[in-house]
Amino acid sequence: MAELNKDLFNIKDENEFYTASKQVREYKESHPDKEFLSLGIGDVSKPIIKPVIEAMHKAVDDLSSMETFKGYGPSHGYDFLKEAILENEYKNFSFSKDEIYISNGTKIDTTSILELFDKDSKICIANPLYPIYKNGAYALSRKITYIKADEENDFLAQIPDEHFDIIYLCSPNNPIGIAYTKAYLKKWIDYAVLNKAVILYDNAYFAFISSEDVPKSIYEIENAKKVCIEFRSFSKSLSFTGVRCSYYIIPNEICENINSIWKKRTINRFNGADYIAQKGAEATYKEESQKLIKENILDYMKHVRTLKTFFQSLGFTVFGGEDSPFIWVKIKENLTSWEIFHLFLEKLNVIITPGIIFGKEGDKFFRVSGLASEEVINEAMERIRAFYEGK
Ligand code: PLP
Repeated sequence: MAELNKDLFNIKDENEFYTASKQVREYKESHPDKEFLSLGIGDVSKPIIKPVIEAMHKAVDDLSSMETFKGYGPSHGYDFLKEAILENEYKNFSFSKDEIYISNGTKIDTTSILELFDKDSKICIANPLYPIYKNGAYALSRKITYIKADEENDFLAQIPDEHFDIIYLCSPNNPIGIAYTKAYLKKWIDYAVLNKAVILYDNAYFAFISSEDVPKSIYEIENAKKVCIEFRSFSKSLSFTGVRCSYYIIPNEICENINSIWKKRTINRFNGADYIAQKGAEATYKEESQKLIKENILDYMKHVRTLKTFFQSLGFTVFGGEDSPFIWVKIKENLTSWEIFHLFLEKLNVIITPGIIFGKEGDKFFRVSGLASEEVINEAMERIRAFYEGK
């Protein structure tokens, strides 16, 4: 009999997003009379903005006539979107269209990129961190090492004394909600240059950055083009969690042939992102879209600041929430993160994300998202306040 991939057994069911979602679903099904409020999984609550919807409607129409119909598109994305991104996001960095890839989500992009590198590469991942990197590495039978990024170190991934080939960095960070400064990233870039390593820089939340000392793109930092692959997503800024469109840059400067071999791999594994999604993403760069996106982001950031102040007022220590829609709340009771998740779910019908999902070091914390709607956040805060103040 064909044997199953043993490495997939390394993905531990009890500490995963889908376990939390399953528990929420089961609890909801057995309590149909209750109204649940989610501050948990980082989905967005705002609809897609009008200029983008209009562009996607137009793209659907294109498919209905022989003259404008589109079948299989380029595996690496249409030129119209590559050009729009390079012009609007990377103008100062002179990347060519051969160095940018359009795809259907940063989740798949940040994990499948490991296929670009030797399978014996030494990979390091901060703990706690977005768990998809480690699970994606397991799925590709890669070995990983955790590096510290806990409260003692202000949750900054600590630069290791040993050699690694591949480093995952996530900024703005999920789950902590902090963003790395230029000065700190420079240290990582120096490490990567010295070690001939590559940094996989997940910048999915770049649209939420407002601090002056935090780079919008890693390429703002000297030498980043030599050692960094940057990933970005339209999921959160454009409410594309259901539409799917993302992009990433592999600079030619990293090493000879890097893009020619990745193109071979991509052509054989992917038939390109959806035409309609790419047309929608292109419309991001219209002036009216930019204005609406900024308004949405400001709104989400208002939510996250309200949540931060709220949890602080209840005596919790709270991290993040400055350049990110997430806050990372330290549990003040003697409870594990699964215990507080169940307490909130069952007593308050409020859904949060247990910190253990992001790694062992996350078990004293839970993550709260400001991507929920204002109504949900206000009602959830009322329930939480009544619970803590009624104690
Ligand atoms: N990277 C990080 C850090 C995320 O938090 C998420 C989604 O929550 C993703 C990537 C996934 O992005 P996408 O929807 O583009 O797959």
